Amino acid sequence: MNGRGHLFSGTVLAADALAVSGIAAVSGKPGFLAGALPEAKAVFIPAGDGAAFVLSCAACAALYYFGVLLPDIDRPNATVTKLTHFHLPLCHRGFTHSLWFVFVFLALGMFLWFPLRYVGIGMLAHDLADWGSTAGWVPFYPLGRWRKYQDCVMARGHWVSFYSSQAPGSETVVNVFLTVLSLACVGVYAWIAFTGGG
Ligand SMILES: [Zn+2]
Repeated sequence: MNGRGHLFSGTVLAADALAVSGIAAVSGKPGFLAGALPEAKAVFIPAGDGAAFVLSCAACAALYYFGVLLPDIDRPNATVTKLTHFHLPLCHRGFTHSLWFVFVFLALGMFLWFPLRYVGIGMLAHDLADWGSTAGWVPFYPLGRWRKYQDCVMARGHWVSFYSSQAPGSETVVNVFLTVLSLACVGVYAWIAFTGGG
C-alpha cells in the first residue's frame, strides 16, 4: 500500500475507534466497553486542560499520521522517505514493520512523552493494512515464518490476500471496502446501542 493508501486506511481505523468509544460513552452499552472507558481514556487521551490539552492532542494526531507512514522508511521511494530525506537500507516489510518498533514507541510514550505512543499506534495501523496484502505481515520479524522475495519479506503460510501492492488499483478497492464495512459496523452498533438492545 502506498503512503496515500495508508493515510486513508489509518484515518478510517482512527474514526472507527473514536466512533465506537463515543457511542459506548453516550449509550453506556455494552457495559463492559463503557466500563473500560476510564482505563482507555488514561491510555489514549493526554492529561491537562485548555491550550496545553489541545496542543497535546494535536501532537498525538500528527505523530499518529507520522507513525502510519513510518514503517515504509525501509523503501527508498516511500512517502515518509521523501518527507524525511532518509531511509533505512533494510529488507522491505522486515524490522521497521515489526511489533518491536511498536513496543519501543509505546514505551517511550509511557515513560518519556505521552504523544510518542501515537507513533506506535500509527505503526500498528500501517502493519494491519499491510497484513491484508499478498505479502502479509511478520509481526515478530525476524522470528516467525517468512521468505525473501525481491528484497521484500513475505509471510509464509499467509492465507489473507485482500490486495496486492503490485496492483495499485486493488489498494483503492480495499480502502473503499474498509470504509463501507466500517460505516456498516458502526451503524449497526449505534442502532443496537441506542434502541435498547445489546
Ligand atoms: Zn508497509
